[in-house]
Amino acid sequence: MQILDGTLVSAHIKEQIKQDVIDWQAQGGKKPHLAAILVGNNPASEAYVGHKVKSCAELGFESTLLRFDPSITEAELIAEVNKLNNNEDVDGILVQLPLPGHISGDSVINAIDPSKDVDGFHPISQGKMMLGQPTFLPATPYGIMLLLEHYNIDIAGMHCVVIGRSNIVGTPMTILLSRNTKPGNATVTLTHSRTKNLAEICQQADLIVAAIGKPFFVTADMVKPGAIIIDVGINRIPDATKKSGSRLVGDVDFEGCAPLCSYITPVPGGVGPMTICGLMKNTLLAAKQKSTVAATA
Ligand code: NAD
Repeated sequence: MQILDGTLVSAHIKEQIKQDVIDWQAQGGKKPHLAAILVGNNPASEAYVGHKVKSCAELGFESTLLRFDPSITEAELIAEVNKLNNNEDVDGILVQLPLPGHISGDSVINAIDPSKDVDGFHPISQGKMMLGQPTFLPATPYGIMLLLEHYNIDIAGMHCVVIGRSNIVGTPMTILLSRNTKPGNATVTLTHSRTKNLAEICQQADLIVAAIGKPFFVTADMVKPGAIIIDVGINRIPDATKKSGSRLVGDVDFEGCAPLCSYITPVPGGVGPMTICGLMKNTLLAAKQKSTVAATA
């Protein structure tokens, strides 16, 4: 069993991005600029946005964090997105999800200028991804593809089972795994809360992507010996042995499943850091594309 070490791989990719930014600036390019919108003070969202802003500083990007009270209306939030759309200095926009219940996440995401959609959630980005056209890939599935690529894992012809059908992880993951790319060319089964015989389907998987949001959901009896497991879940559970009184776990029973696997991602330190790499690569791409458009206008 080998750990797919997202911390290590992300450090390696971040070094490449950092050098790329230096080279880009040496050619007269400007610092990539990521603007993040955070509504309310959900501790998990605070932590995720904090990691993203910190990564910007590490990589030589500029970042702006806009915080809003949860009482902000949908129209007001969309107006803030529009300000960022019109701000020439901003290359990438991310809206940290989830948003408060009275705001439609879809409406806010749809308001982002697709040329600044570095989380890859806009319908234009998702549509282009589906058609195999160049675009911003959703950060988490993109990060997972980068991880598989780094370890040179050939998934062509494998049966991959994705658990969870969200628009930001499960569904786009199925597209990327099945595309005619390297890595890619897998045969993919998408499963969800209404899937029957999930355990049997998982037992046939050469690779499982777990994106459910339920701690320890994938257990050893669901795993074929030699399978690869990618654990996307981030769940906080009580743990009296920790100073904080809690700890993070994935959607997979790591202790039970790891001995059976050929490769497995840990939580934390697996998919999470790779998601940030996906976001940062998209932001650098957005900055470069904007400058190309400006030069040819
Ligand atoms: P979501 O709640 O939008 O989707 C969960 C999916 O799980 C749904 O499609 C649902 O059908 C499926 N599901 C629920 N119960 C099921 C069951 N019993 N059997 C089969 N499928 C079931 O969640 P999401 O946004 O895709 O996130 C999933 C998890 O991944 C969460 O823990 C989230 O925190 C984590 N996440 C991590 C990263 C990262 O960077 N590591 C990024 C995004 C999300």
